[in-house]
Amino acid sequence: RARAQANLADLGPCRTQDGHPVSLYLNIGSVKDVRSGAQGVGLLRTEFLFLGRKETPSVAEQRAAYLELFNAFPGTRVVIRTLDAGADKPLPFLALPAEENPALGVRGLRTARLRPEVLDDQLAAIASAAAAASCEVWTMAPMVATPNEAAEFAAQARAHGLEHVGAMIEIPAAALRAARLLEHLDFLSIGTNDLGQYTMAADRQDGRLPDLLDPWQPALLELIALAAEAGGAAGKPVGVCGEAAADPRLAPVLVGLGVTSLSMAAAAVSAVHAALSARTLTQCRDLAAKARDAVDPAAAREAVAEMSRS
Ligand code: PEP
Ligand code: MG
Repeated sequence: RARAQANLADLGPCRTQDGHPVSLYLNIGSVKDVRSGAQGVGLLRTEFLFLGRKETPSVAEQRAAYLELFNAFPGTRVVIRTLDAGADKPLPFLALPAEENPALGVRGLRTARLRPEVLDDQLAAIASAAAAASCEVWTMAPMVATPNEAAEFAAQARAHGLEHVGAMIEIPAAALRAARLLEHLDFLSIGTNDLGQYTMAADRQDGRLPDLLDPWQPALLELIALAAEAGGAAGKPVGVCGEAAADPRLAPVLVGLGVTSLSMAAAAVSAVHAALSARTLTQCRDLAAKARDAVDPAAAREAVAEMSRS
């Protein structure tokens, strides 16, 4: 742990070989994931505070937990995600009805349709902690499907005084309409785990379909490109915080598609940093074009490997 911490601090900000900055952030699911020296947090999952609870944690309890995590990253940016629960991640206090098909049911932001006060309390706690924090807090919702959902979430978050409000892109409809979402939001963060599942109609919990869930699927790359291009046109950041961001061979492709930040587990940061530092932005764009054009994930990998050798 001590070595991992020292390494993160030593790495410094990430740039492509020609100086184009790419922010590298940590994915955090609890205090045990905290690493000093990190440039910031791209995905703070908040489920840890709610798991196994019969009652919702109070606003005061949530505020204290968020503030402790925020203050572990002074001077950086921390992107916190509101509760991502559903029938697949059951939270007793939500008392969600059993679902035939939880991945397509009331999960993520949709749970606020049944229990609006849970989201409202969480936003109040985040806003109060953000006001006292030594980092810049960005807040995003999981499983947003439509521009109206984005608009409602943004209005609610801003009513609590939150300044940087965004959404995860995990549903193809949201990627296809990213420009419309960005009319209401300050940033987007692509969750490739769910976006892959919904793009390929392949359950991410089902171990039998790894080829369809491969983050190199060109169809997934196309949707990432759409969201990134919408961000570029609007001048707003679009990151990736799913597992895809932790693959050092895929990271240059994602940057070439127009993604402005990557967020991953601490263990992946140094390899991704090295991969990006070794390539120019033009090379990243060439790799991205090849991967997007490939017929399947194996061909995408091979095209990128071949260009990297030459
Ligand atoms: C994702 O779907 O890619 C993501 C980062 O969210 P989670 O893995 O928590 O569903
Ligand atoms: Mg997800």
